[in-house]
Amino acid sequence: MTSRGQRPSAPVRVVWSDDMLAYDFGHGHPMTSERLELTIRLAEQLGLLDGPDVELVDAPPASDDLLRTVHEAAYVAAVREASEHGTPDPQRGLGTSDDPVFPSMHEAAARVVTGTVDAALAVWEDRAEHAVNLTGGLHHAMPGAASGFCVYNDAAVAIRALLAAGATRVAYVDVDAHHGDGVQAVFWDDPRVLTISVHESGHALFPGTGFAREIGGADAMGSAVNVALPAGTDDTGWLRAIEAVVPAVVREFAPDVLVTQHGCDSHLMDPLTHLRVSVDGQRAAATLLHDLAHDVADGRWVALGGGGYAVLDVVPRSWAHLVGVATHRPVDPERDVPQAWRELVRDRYGRLGPARMTDGRPLRLRPWSSGYDPGDDVDRAIRATRAAVFPCWGLDPDLD
Ligand SMILES: [Zn+2]
Ligand SMILES: [Zn+2]
Repeated sequence: MTSRGQRPSAPVRVVWSDDMLAYDFGHGHPMTSERLELTIRLAEQLGLLDGPDVELVDAPPASDDLLRTVHEAAYVAAVREASEHGTPDPQRGLGTSDDPVFPSMHEAAARVVTGTVDAALAVWEDRAEHAVNLTGGLHHAMPGAASGFCVYNDAAVAIRALLAAGATRVAYVDVDAHHGDGVQAVFWDDPRVLTISVHESGHALFPGTGFAREIGGADAMGSAVNVALPAGTDDTGWLRAIEAVVPAVVREFAPDVLVTQHGCDSHLMDPLTHLRVSVDGQRAAATLLHDLAHDVADGRWVALGGGGYAVLDVVPRSWAHLVGVATHRPVDPERDVPQAWRELVRDRYGRLGPARMTDGRPLRLRPWSSGYDPGDDVDRAIRATRAAVFPCWGLDPDLD
């Protein structure tokens, strides 16, 4: 079922129900579900979810059989045990400071998986033009362990489901500030799945992996692509890296479906990371990936959330822009944030939310075609990635 050409018109799917707020590690933990709730309320206020061309879809918990397409049976059992009885299992990452056990952890995490799997299958079967699951993108979860605030790897399960449904090639592009290590690990030796991660270097940041030399297993060389950017990389460098690596490799790979992870912890206000990207830069990346999906995959695009811990100032605006791009209602960055949403923030947190949909710093684009500067840390990082993987795809690292 890899027919190309005109797809029938279908609504854009946005996965959401208030039940999804249950994925929450508790008071004081960065991964609070308030970030999701504030995002959905802002998207509503901006009118992004209105109309017959947008479909809001709930997600019941995934079955154990579905989870086991990626996760070890013993791990799923351990998550259930932790969820039902509060039993920690630090060997499997459960009950650690990153991943404390909370009641109904299994159900909450399994809902996220269903959301992404259903979104992916709806896109594959042309029941959705694009799909967005902001609760998803839990890219650190490993087959046998929780890691980095992630219990089940919704992206990996969804990619397996796409392959089982007949997709022959799936591309996954991850622009979270952290390396998409779990998804990379699951498909390390699988040439049918391209994983690209653009992130802050593991020298300074969890999970400590994702270097340019990680290019996939012996049977899938070039199917893992990593751009490890220096701390402090700003919009210009970050967008330069995405533009210099992602479109060329994805085009060469020619995926049936594009799955993207939009963790917005690359922002300069994010408390956990050291990149200096703005919501405007994040919006530009979402636009680039949306357009790429139309160019290379007949518009089959599944966009996921991920990290992002500046709960009031960044996540709602960044992901509202993502929803705007996906629903073909791009939000003008010059637009004011709706007053009702700012007041909701003030009533809950004691201060008004951000006033505008932009961070107010004009984007200065410096495309790769403008030339390589060997004295620039960002350029050296990009060059290392191109040198490591472009030859695997028949591409010349030195050409545009
Ligand atoms: Zn579109
Ligand atoms: Zn992250």
